[in-house]
Amino acid sequence: MISRKSTYPCFVITFFLCFSSCIHTLENSDLIKEGSPNYGLSESLRLYEESHENLLVFTHATMVDGTGNPIKQNQTIIIENGIFKEVGKYTDVRIPQNAKTINLKGKTIIPGIVGMHNHLHIPRFPDVGDVAAKLYLAAGVTTIQTCGAAAPYKELKLSKRIEEGEFIGPEIISSAPFITGKGGNPNMIIPRNTEHLRDTMQHWLDLGVKWFKVYRNTNPDDLKTIIEVAHKNKAKVRGHLCSVTFEEATRLGIDGIEHGLNSTSDFRTHKAYGQCNGGREYIDELIINHPNVKRLQQIMIDNKVFLTSTLSIYEASIPNRAYADDRSLDVMSPFLRKQYKDRRASNDKQIDDVTREKRLKRIMQFEYQYYKMGGLLCAGVDAGRHVLPGFGDQRNYELLIEAGFTTEEAVKIMTGNGAKALERTDIGTIQVGKRADFVILNGDLRTDATTIEKVETVFKDGKSYNPDLILKTVQGQFGKE
Ligand SMILES: [Zn+2]
Repeated sequence: MISRKSTYPCFVITFFLCFSSCIHTLENSDLIKEGSPNYGLSESLRLYEESHENLLVFTHATMVDGTGNPIKQNQTIIIENGIFKEVGKYTDVRIPQNAKTINLKGKTIIPGIVGMHNHLHIPRFPDVGDVAAKLYLAAGVTTIQTCGAAAPYKELKLSKRIEEGEFIGPEIISSAPFITGKGGNPNMIIPRNTEHLRDTMQHWLDLGVKWFKVYRNTNPDDLKTIIEVAHKNKAKVRGHLCSVTFEEATRLGIDGIEHGLNSTSDFRTHKAYGQCNGGREYIDELIINHPNVKRLQQIMIDNKVFLTSTLSIYEASIPNRAYADDRSLDVMSPFLRKQYKDRRASNDKQIDDVTREKRLKRIMQFEYQYYKMGGLLCAGVDAGRHVLPGFGDQRNYELLIEAGFTTEEAVKIMTGNGAKALERTDIGTIQVGKRADFVILNGDLRTDATTIEKVETVFKDGKSYNPDLILKTVQGQFGKE
């Protein structure tokens, strides 16, 4: 297992000295006091100062480009007006005169992370969006699909504020509220009848929302309607399933399925059609490379269903693994920190129970097999417990490596594959013509997976962000409403 000790980097002053203009704004940022209406803007002001450097050259970088291609050393990357203008070997790329050049020797660059299950809420906290947005960006997550909204109007508003430069965070691709069925979670939409369902969906479509998420108790007939309405409107449907099996949802035309094996009801014993019931012992007995499992995965692949891996949130329920790192504890509100301590104490009593550890291995195998069979696997944090937005995405990377993926594959799952699932050709990889969303990591990602946590600078849309400055503004804030 990869060590979880705190590895949050200290401020790397040498790099930022390259940007003379930022020094002056750093001082200015202190003028915006906590509680003032402009609080939270300080970083964005700073970054805008930086970004009038519309031509930047990076040299000697180790690059994992998000396509799955082998890592490349000694790369030169030129960005102009927020776009990758040139990417290539140091000896092959001509560096324009007068361009600001930054040497990235000893550092790894990856595309900005595309978080595909990245809520702006956590259980029982419907809106932690402002802090979550900062955490995502600071951790290198530059685009998120929220995969279900608990505070959908706030989500849309935050998305717009970020787009307009009034707040910092990833690009937010918003979701409609969760839709479930009878017996399901009461704060979600439970369709009264088909008309109510269609009206509700139309409302969100009219607001420009293109992503619907169905939850565990969804009625199969409702799912059919949801997919039909969504697809008619060029919108997508994703599912955290239970009442409907993966195979049934796939045959109905669902676009994405969440959490992998952990929410597969296809193999439950005594499961009734359309109901979230039956035994879960299957998960402890299922042979992942059994023809029945492969058959199901092949049906999903043939129907172009993307599968979203959420390993870090599952890990948070395993007694001998469920440790929060110092970075997360520092960002939690006192209330959440206390909750964590209580949970930790109860975990300590069950530390020898390996049931969930074994399940994690099966969940990993299921995802690995899906990828190797040609399925589109992406990843997201599904934040909660002590798995925080952004930090949990980084942990996903480390767990994908533990699952057996190579550095290139794990990066691709977290970046290029997410973009593919979103049908976005402008993000997700470091390639000429794409948006300059990328992350500079302080170290060699291939030799040490925890380098993913050592974010030195995040570029989004060609503008640079300093994670340390962002995190400073959220200490003790996550979980305050
Ligand atoms: Zn979720």
